[in-house]
Amino acid sequence: MLPGLEADGKMIWTYKEAMLPEALPKSLLVIGSGAIGIEFASFYRALGAEVTVVEVLDRILPVEDEEISAFARKAFEKQDMKIITGATVKKLDKGADNVTATIEQGGKVTQSTFERVILAIGITGNIENLGLENTKAKTDKGHITINQWGETGEPGVWAIGDVAGPPWLAHKASHEGVVCVERIAGVKGVHPLDISNVPGCTYCAPQVASVGFTEAKAKAAGRQVRVGRFPFIGNGKAIALGEPEGLVKTVFDAKTGELLGAHMIGPEVTELIQGFVIARTLETTEAELMRTIFPHPTISETMHEAVLDAYGRVIHM
Ligand SMILES: Cc1cc2nc3c(=O)[nH]c(=O)nc-3n(C[C@H](O)[C@H](O)[C@H](O)COP(=O)(O)OP(=O)(O)OC[C@H]3O[C@@H](n4cnc5c(N)ncnc54)[C@H](O)[C@@H]3O)c2cc1C
Repeated sequence: MLPGLEADGKMIWTYKEAMLPEALPKSLLVIGSGAIGIEFASFYRALGAEVTVVEVLDRILPVEDEEISAFARKAFEKQDMKIITGATVKKLDKGADNVTATIEQGGKVTQSTFERVILAIGITGNIENLGLENTKAKTDKGHITINQWGETGEPGVWAIGDVAGPPWLAHKASHEGVVCVERIAGVKGVHPLDISNVPGCTYCAPQVASVGFTEAKAKAAGRQVRVGRFPFIGNGKAIALGEPEGLVKTVFDAKTGELLGAHMIGPEVTELIQGFVIARTLETTEAELMRTIFPHPTISETMHEAVLDAYGRVIHM
């Protein structure tokens, strides 16, 4: 919560109230367009609520690749979701059964009224009142500092999951827990978690999933990249499913062929992304991926095509 934007659990919701609504609001303001904000926005829009999303950054799903963000925005706007980016909600004023939001965008201030508001502006660890201040455990920006095994600075005190920092995901927390406990138990051959290979999934419609470097992050890290793209409209199974809206984007290291990242929007991409996660775990290059056989007709063929496209060998485009 931010000053002036405090939840009351009745008209201004956190995720807790948003998951257990007493009634469907007619109009809804979602503040924040990260995975949680977009999941609620998509869910409530699908149920018929008029949904407005306000995001302070210049695009929605800001951690995703820019092309996927832009694709998602278009898809949601086609569903009549209102999206306001580069804008800040300054104030929320509660009425009898609605909330008026003061929104500033590019120096212009407007006011709009909504039945309900969802705050989805961030996650922070519950690190207060644990007695950490009396130990050698360090904290940084709301999270407990750990090494690759989950050890804090205080002998015998370990941390995993959301309190140990981003990405704030259940499978990251769970994997870190296993690594940490195996390390404590002295299991041989324990591998630390590779934070660069944690997949991120957003369960909106269409779904969004990604792993590894975005194109921009790869370039910022000094990598020369080869990029491939394939739209779901070129895939027979996606057409047969009636869900031809989507895109797969692959990012390779131009010198070594290492798969740096994969970014997807479309049907069941939260299931498909696992293929690219395994590829990255095995440090696969474009050569193995190109000669891998993908079954037909499946939507997984979009992944193969997006790899082929990075090397000028795409077939169905
Ligand atoms: C709306 C929403 C949707 C999400 N969807 C997804 C998703 O689809 N996929 C995904 O991977 N992740 C998702 N997440 C994130 C995921 O829930 C978290 O990353 C995950 O739960 C982190 O696990 P954890 O064990 O670190 O923390 P938690 O699951 O928060 O568990 C911490 C536990 O510790 C307890 N606790 C806190 N303080 C103390 C204390 N002082 N003493 C004792 N107990 C204490 C808490 O009550 C809680 O039960 C979502 C999160 C939200 C909010």
